Amino acid sequence: MTIPALELNDGHSIPQLGYGVFKVPPAETERAVSEALEIGFRHIDTAAIYGNEEGVGAAIAASGIPREELFVTTKLWNDRHHDDEPRAAIRESLDKLRLDSVDLYLVHWPTPAKDDYVHAFAKLIELREAGLTRSIGVSNFLVPHLERTVAETGVVPAVNQIELHPAYQQRDVVAWAEAHDVRIEAWGPLGQGKYDLFGVPAVADAAAAHGVTPAQAVLRWHLQKGNIVFPKSVRAERLRENLDVFGFELTADEIAAIDALDPLDGSGRVGSHPDDVN
Ligand code: NAD
Repeated sequence: MTIPALELNDGHSIPQLGYGVFKVPPAETERAVSEALEIGFRHIDTAAIYGNEEGVGAAIAASGIPREELFVTTKLWNDRHHDDEPRAAIRESLDKLRLDSVDLYLVHWPTPAKDDYVHAFAKLIELREAGLTRSIGVSNFLVPHLERTVAETGVVPAVNQIELHPAYQQRDVVAWAEAHDVRIEAWGPLGQGKYDLFGVPAVADAAAAHGVTPAQAVLRWHLQKGNIVFPKSVRAERLRENLDVFGFELTADEIAAIDALDPLDGSGRVGSHPDDVN
């Protein structure tokens, strides 16, 4: 089974499906990531704030998988945007990950009240030039944050990692990304289990029609929309299930029915609004 790779606007490529480790407890991370690598995942999404980069690093080191076959993302936390802190922060992350460089480094949140996200992204440009990360991007950026970042640095981020699932599709941010050749990474691709996504007819019917689980139908919807996803689970059977999404294709009607789920009564954003995180 081959996971498709998508080209980024800087010429590098990224596996479209990966494994995210938000809320994987540090003590469980090495085991969970080792299992994910064994099952076939090659793209790992972590962050300094998750507190589990050491476990990711230990699993990678133990795997024996050549570095060039892996894609590792980590993120700069909100209190380290200023001065030359991003350089110190990435060095700490690289130490924990036991890597010389990551494949993708992101500004985790724009923290607009502090008005320092443009500075942070400008620092990421320097880190890329220094070879500490191959690609750079942002996360949780809304259109005004993106516009200003590009206008003031002259560099277009390779990705924007945003909350995105059927009931919350952020169409304005996605349209901006498409127009500027920025890849969308969808976090919370399954809505973090916070609403009954799997029970809605558009998802349940598509799953039944293809003999797959509702989670697989939703992941397939993301992939066919062009989103990069890295669903989280610490259970091996679910990791296998989440990787097994390349043997079927949703029809245009099934895609349209899931597209129509935003807005869905009683749901929407399951995480924080980017303006409220500072
Ligand atoms: P998710 O939508 O992947 O949901 C995870 C939940 O879904 C877990 O509770 C898990 O038990 C369940 N699940 C996973 N696979 C399943 C399956 N096959 N069947 C049924 N249930 C299943 O949400 P997430 O973990 O928040 O998002 C994925 C990744 O996105 C994270 O691990 C992290 O890497 C990233 N993320 C980034 C940000 C950010 O601010 N940039 C925020 C949250 C998450």
